[in-house]
Amino acid sequence: MDGANDGASKGACNCGGCGSDGNDKFLNPTPMLDELESGPWPSFVSGFKDMAERTKKPMLRGVLDQLEYSYNTKMGYWKGGLVTVDGYGAGVITRYSMIKDKFPEAAEFHTMRIQPAPGLHYNTDMLRELCDIWEKHGSGIITLHGQTGDIMLQGIEQDKVQECFDELNEKGWDLGGAGAGMRTGVSCIGPGRCENACYDNLKLHLKALKHFVGQVHRPEWNYKLKFKFSGCPNDCTNAIMRSDLAVIGTWKDAIQVDRDEVRSWIEERGIDALVNQVINHCPTKAISLNDGDMVIEARDCVRCMHCLNVMPKALSPGRERGISLLMGGKNTLKVGVNMGSLIVPFMKMESDEDIEEFLELIEEIIDWWDDAGLDHERIGETIERVGLKQFLEGIGREADINMVSRPRDNPYFKAKY
Ligand code: SF4
Ligand code: SF4
Repeated sequence: MDGANDGASKGACNCGGCGSDGNDKFLNPTPMLDELESGPWPSFVSGFKDMAERTKKPMLRGVLDQLEYSYNTKMGYWKGGLVTVDGYGAGVITRYSMIKDKFPEAAEFHTMRIQPAPGLHYNTDMLRELCDIWEKHGSGIITLHGQTGDIMLQGIEQDKVQECFDELNEKGWDLGGAGAGMRTGVSCIGPGRCENACYDNLKLHLKALKHFVGQVHRPEWNYKLKFKFSGCPNDCTNAIMRSDLAVIGTWKDAIQVDRDEVRSWIEERGIDALVNQVINHCPTKAISLNDGDMVIEARDCVRCMHCLNVMPKALSPGRERGISLLMGGKNTLKVGVNMGSLIVPFMKMESDEDIEEFLELIEEIIDWWDDAGLDHERIGETIERVGLKQFLEGIGREADINMVSRPRDNPYFKAKY
């Protein structure tokens, strides 16, 4: 590699292309990165530069220089390693520069994964404390929330990680999951603010986190396992697509209909709107008009949420509420992108006993996977490989006509592929 940086001329750029001596401004020229600022979207480059200029942290300048060099050479230069805090075996994602001689300011740029609060809501005091600690020890860059669900504190050197963690932990924060263990769980705001919530997903998230906290911090399985808790089939956490264990609120009986609100809706928008926006969009034709009145055939409803989303005041989930458990959702790996299969069609989730029963079931599922799974194999892949029959026998459950291998239609899926 040409132009190795001896670190003596602070700010001198070694990207090999811009020729700057770096002495005029804090940041070195980054013509390739600058082009990313001109598009219609908010640019991470602008944010990065702004932060670097304000904080004058050499680490940020070094990372921009290395990224510019990466764009020029079409190569990435980060490699992994192992950084932990006392008593933990996971939670810090390491990034060591492979070309630290060239860009010594970017020699290390590790990420600390921090557990989010259930529902991803915080008060401002908590966030201020988090920011102050992070600015003191790290780069100051935060991602809320990464695809993992964690608060991602990006950019810290190894020798500052323990002290930073101790201060965060003192304020009640903890590291999230990484490696072959229980990953950080995610839940939607649920009953905290949403009328569609069919169970207290915030409470279940917290209980599950406490139950599996050892496996979050000390990975011990074949591979990773991730919970997501959505309060209703709208699945705002993307659980079915992006988690091994998707816990989705649902109901067993009929959708609740407020007749007065249905009449108001029709008076305001007209009967054609009811037909075109609601009835014709029901995927199973469960809704019909009877003498100008809206009728829903409960046994045909597949809980796609469409009608409830269009008529939120008039329609709400039924009274007999609980959860469905779908398993095996994941992004690309050995057997391609999977959505979860519906393994437990309905389970009540009202009392502490219900939660205990749920956690026992998850323990059984994990025990089976730990025995039957191969190294680096997600649970959905294990089930795909050995077959659903063997999986159900392994966890001692009977096959049920209500189990389905893939979710049924839901127009509110956020499809990426
Ligand atoms: Fe509300 Fe359902 Fe979305 Fe949760 S998943 S925020 S309960 S609509
Ligand atoms: Fe039809 Fe979906 Fe409404 Fe059920 S929730 S009645 S399937 S539109």
